[in-house]
Amino acid sequence: MIRTPHILIVGGGYAGFYAAWHLEKRLKRSEASVSILDPRPYMTYQPFLPEVVAGSIEARHVAVSLRRHLRRTTVLSGRATSIDHGSRSVHAQMNDGREVTLSYDLIVVTAGAVTRTLPVPGIAEVALGLKHVEEAVAIRDTFLTALDRAAALPEGPERTRALTVTFVGGGFAGAEGFGELLSLSRAALKRYPEISPDELSFHLVEASERILPEVSTKTGAWVVRSLERRGARVHLRTTVTSAVGGEVVLSSGERFESDLIVWTAGTAANPVVSQRTDLPVNQRGLLIVRPDLRVGSDERPVVGAWAAGDAAAVPDLTRTASPPYLYTVPNAQHAVRQGKRLARNITKTLRGSATRPYRHRSLGAVATLGLGTGVFEAGPVALKGFLGWLIHRGYQVLAIPTWERKIRVASVWFAALFLGRDIVSLTSVQHPRHEFVTGGRLELDPPEWDTRNVA
Ligand SMILES: Cc1cc2nc3c(=O)[nH]c(=O)nc-3n(C[C@H](O)[C@H](O)[C@H](O)COP(=O)(O)OP(=O)(O)OC[C@H]3O[C@@H](n4cnc5c(N)ncnc54)[C@H](O)[C@@H]3O)c2cc1C
Repeated sequence: MIRTPHILIVGGGYAGFYAAWHLEKRLKRSEASVSILDPRPYMTYQPFLPEVVAGSIEARHVAVSLRRHLRRTTVLSGRATSIDHGSRSVHAQMNDGREVTLSYDLIVVTAGAVTRTLPVPGIAEVALGLKHVEEAVAIRDTFLTALDRAAALPEGPERTRALTVTFVGGGFAGAEGFGELLSLSRAALKRYPEISPDELSFHLVEASERILPEVSTKTGAWVVRSLERRGARVHLRTTVTSAVGGEVVLSSGERFESDLIVWTAGTAANPVVSQRTDLPVNQRGLLIVRPDLRVGSDERPVVGAWAAGDAAAVPDLTRTASPPYLYTVPNAQHAVRQGKRLARNITKTLRGSATRPYRHRSLGAVATLGLGTGVFEAGPVALKGFLGWLIHRGYQVLAIPTWERKIRVASVWFAALFLGRDIVSLTSVQHPRHEFVTGGRLELDPPEWDTRNVA
């Protein structure tokens, strides 16, 4: 009996989800079986996280269920801890705690990147990232809770600190998250007569001389001016040197206390790729792939391994600049298309035909900077402000996979047109047993009603 090959996809984000989805569409059951391994049961639509921060999109709506949309793929809930291609096996820690070894015939590595944290004192203890749904929700809730607290505080350092927000890093995640939170703050303050808008202090700290490197310098400069017009401070050519206890110290010497610090200063290679595999990686810890997304180089090809998205250094064939091998930028536009190309090429390989290289000329960039403000740039065309924002929304709602998600997101936007946005913090969901255990008794401090301390 001929055994059907088993394809194991490590990482069910953009590239992994699209690879699995398109393998399902192309391959017959008799040609291969497909499994996807990810600790999360969903693909996160990251470009919508800034709007989750602002409350313009429901948190659940940016999570595309793997089980619902991948009907013929086996979904495995766990995290790869190492990939041993020599023995065609992945060691994984499943979500229920079991350590397992998964064997495969073909591997697809799409584990993405992780937030890059630099050894800045205090950051690991106090900052939040913005790459996952729970982080977006936490940023929103922390800010709204701080408004509630500040409203009851007298003037003074504690109140100033509660009303101070710091974002570190001005890429997509930082600039968009910052702009959206700024927009939420203006909307929310209409319901807080106790707080004057002048009391809010928003800082965006960026080490380089510009923000949003995905758009032209001119458009990037417009974004800075637009944020500053809205009352924010953008610190260019500046780094955060310390954030111990929430006291932010900048390389310019300026220091201030900030209750909410968001770290979005870039991404780093996923450790399972950079440190825990025998597959070839470059100096940055990214998988070396050929233009058709097979792992290895023409000189040292690796059989049976494929990679795409932020975890891989994919040659950008549309570039003519030297050095000859420049890589596609790590973004969703490429990850989606690489996932699809990878599925087509695996299908071709299994059927004995030639693969095709990945080639995609960037469509441009869109970014939101808050409700009604954004940018769209493609080649020489740059639309800023309301039009840019409209294009951002139009593009992103069409780009989120499946009609079911598009309709959910669009219906929340539509409702908000008439009903405005929600401004409540749901921080209390972190402690669902509080009311049940304390029964309203004030003498019980958090450690006493925390689940770990209640028999
Ligand atoms: C806030 C924000 C806004 C953005 N906005 C834009 C935008 O407007 N336009 C744009 O083009 N790009 C944008 N990006 C970038 C874009 O989202 C990423 O480039 C894209 O998600 C990369 O896709 P990926 O599949 O490589 O990785 P991801 O989508 O990150 O998926 C990786 C998956 O691997 C899983 N995983 C990680 N480690 C393991 C492991 N050890 N074992 C198993 N699974 C693992 C993760 O849980 C995740 O599901 C944004 C990113 C952020 C954070």
